[in-house]
Amino acid sequence: MATLVSTGTWLTDAEKAELRATAEGIVATGKGLLAADESTGTMGKRFANIGVENTEENRRKYRQLLFTCNPVMAESISGAILFHETLYQKSDSGVPFVKMLNDMKIIPGIKVDKGVVPLAGTNGETTTQGMDDLGKRCKQYYEDGARFAKWRCVLKIGEHTPSPLSILENANVLARYASTCQQNGLVPIVEPEVLPDGTHDLARCQAVSEKVLAAVYKALSDHNVYLEGTLLKPNMVTPGMDCPKRSDYTPEDIARATVTALQRTMPAAVPGVTFLSGGQSEEEASRNLNAINQYQGKKPWKLTFSYGRALQASTLAAWKGQDALVDAGQEAFLKRASINGKAAAGQYITDSASAQGAAQTSLHVANHMY
Ligand code: 13P
Repeated sequence: MATLVSTGTWLTDAEKAELRATAEGIVATGKGLLAADESTGTMGKRFANIGVENTEENRRKYRQLLFTCNPVMAESISGAILFHETLYQKSDSGVPFVKMLNDMKIIPGIKVDKGVVPLAGTNGETTTQGMDDLGKRCKQYYEDGARFAKWRCVLKIGEHTPSPLSILENANVLARYASTCQQNGLVPIVEPEVLPDGTHDLARCQAVSEKVLAAVYKALSDHNVYLEGTLLKPNMVTPGMDCPKRSDYTPEDIARATVTALQRTMPAAVPGVTFLSGGQSEEEASRNLNAINQYQGKKPWKLTFSYGRALQASTLAAWKGQDALVDAGQEAFLKRASINGKAAAGQYITDSASAQGAAQTSLHVANHMY
């Protein structure tokens, strides 16, 4: 074997075709992902806000609410990222959630990272763990119905961060994860999240995002990852949550900065981007995605959503853990899903009704864990 190989040449043509079809299906026009892979601890925090006890049964009931929505949701939701527990749960009538999703033509995915851990000697920076048994777990998850995976790395903007070490280490672990997923038939969603915490302005977030993404794509190339069978899940380029000029920036400013950062770093071979919402309010996340899709400039990839908080906040608020309010929760979910589907096609026309109440609330959580 030559020392240098082209990306993905270690996969068979059939393996490449399957990975590519999955990735392209996830970013089909007007569709995006529901990130419902909150860990048990994170669900506890979401439930605490609405006074619901964090039991396995309540988590099952909540995910059932999401997956029993009118199948019309598949017009805007192409896939759902699940937490390990959820992949094996069933509806009240005993139907596995994986089957329910597949019946609606919604692709099941799985979070495979095991959370962040400190990088010693840095100023509070982290890497992400979960590599040891990853190949074995990916193989099993594929057998159990998952077709894509997610792994989240976190980078922080501070006076002296992100450090070269955290950029390099997180890029490398994302590439090792991506390679391991592809060896087992799963499309890796590569998530290097630059946190929105801080007082930095838009230009600083753009500069950091560009350096992080350039390092990620260098590492993916070094690891011979098949780019056509991957997706990127980045932060949008936004000012920090405590930036004094935060309210001066328009969705068009955010769109320009975000698309420019991607143009400078992301190969055209990658089918698409599925942005995280990162603590933006539901409405902000929808408007910014719409502006990104309306932005006039080179965009050789699909640009869509993979939202957790910005797809579920008003659903949780409407449901409140009550069986009698499942319909209200589902109605709220379908509304946000449909709005984000339109934003992913650059066709969301804001109406004042959808911009009210919970949809306007900031969903920022400092130093967000998942
Ligand atoms: P948010 O959209 O709430 O940022 O979460 C998306 C996600 O999957 C983070 O890993």
